[in-house]
Amino acid sequence: MAINKVKGTYDVLPNESYLWQALEQKIRDILGLYNMKEMRTPIMEYSDVFHRHTELSDMVIKETYNFDDRSERKLTLRPEGTAGIIRSYVENKLYVSQELEKVYYIGPNFRYERPQKGRYRQFYQFGVEAIGTINPALDAEMIILAYDFIKRIGLKGVRVRINSLGDEASRVSYQEALRNYFLPHIDELCDDCKLRLNKNPLRILDCKVDQKHQAIKNAPTPQDFLNIESRIYFKQVLEHLNAAKISYEIAPKLVRGLDYYSHTVFEIEADIEGFGAQNVLGGGGRYQNLVSELGGPDLGGIGFAFGMERLLLALEAENVDFAQEKTLDAFVIVINDELKTTATSILYELRLAGLIADMNFTQKGFKGQLKQALRSNSKYLVILGEDEYQKGLVAIKDTKTEIQEEVLIPKIKKYLLEKLEK
Ligand code: AMP
Repeated sequence: MAINKVKGTYDVLPNESYLWQALEQKIRDILGLYNMKEMRTPIMEYSDVFHRHTELSDMVIKETYNFDDRSERKLTLRPEGTAGIIRSYVENKLYVSQELEKVYYIGPNFRYERPQKGRYRQFYQFGVEAIGTINPALDAEMIILAYDFIKRIGLKGVRVRINSLGDEASRVSYQEALRNYFLPHIDELCDDCKLRLNKNPLRILDCKVDQKHQAIKNAPTPQDFLNIESRIYFKQVLEHLNAAKISYEIAPKLVRGLDYYSHTVFEIEADIEGFGAQNVLGGGGRYQNLVSELGGPDLGGIGFAFGMERLLLALEAENVDFAQEKTLDAFVIVINDELKTTATSILYELRLAGLIADMNFTQKGFKGQLKQALRSNSKYLVILGEDEYQKGLVAIKDTKTEIQEEVLIPKIKKYLLEKLEK
């Protein structure tokens, strides 16, 4: 049996991890500006957290990794972040101390999808949830945050698309209208769509198989069924966006792939070469029933999530220089093995002073060490030679200017700190 990675997964190798770290740091910095705190929930939950109601989305029915543990409890690897966050919000009664909880998460999700570029079976999302209240300014804040984030990491050619599904009453009348509309066409649609007709006809609009079918293209849109309260709510959201000078477009057909949305839904799309159908970087929306469905009080929330692989692919495709790999400050080279213990003590001292430093550990000769040091792009070489050592000196070479100076061993740290302006 070949020991390979699981289909649809990937490894982050040592020369790539700085990109992930830089993206995660940006996420933390930007979300901090919006007074968001991080929440970390388990990657596995009891299946009921995701498989709650009868109007299950395709993702929950077909795409989750479900298994029994040794005590035959039904568990699921999380396919998305929101349900686990809400489960924890309810379980920890976070609503008691905070009227509005603004949190973010970063972590892996699992979906049994057909792998392709930008689509994996284990993928990372970062997401944001603002739970506890319903307020148009808050919906706008989430969209502003998503937009601001994309701008700050340096992506261009990005579109914010927004729609409203309206409140429960509006949604019910829209569902009814869609059912009546699709009924005469249902034989032409796929088997999944036939099931969706009764369960949740909104999902037909998201169907990957029938996307190009005329009936889907001409279907009524949620906007036509918004009641007056929902219309006012949506108008207020847009007023806040206008006030912040955020550019957006209204997307009448946008309904999003999860089941729990109401009122505002939105997506961030990017025109990136080679992305094809995977051009949605992230999206989200308001949910009014999720907290109560998971056993909590009747409180609403709003959130969004971005796929991190897609963000990194987009940054690469647009040549955005958003992360620098840290290079070594100093590489210590010894002329012979007897000087290795001195090298160890110098290294330790440099690291205590906060310098990134290394030496060779594979018994290389002087030339080999030099090669390794240059390949590592170290800013300085600290060379321990026999004669210099007898005089208590080392040679320190600036690899950029090639200028080399002799420095007393106890002064190495001070010398390098000054040169590096640390
Ligand atoms: P969703 O949770 O389906 O609304 O997805 C939100 C974002 O997560 C998408 O816009 C993608 O960027 C990302 N995403 C969703 N599914 C996958 C996947 N299988 N592989 C990689 N990224 C994904």
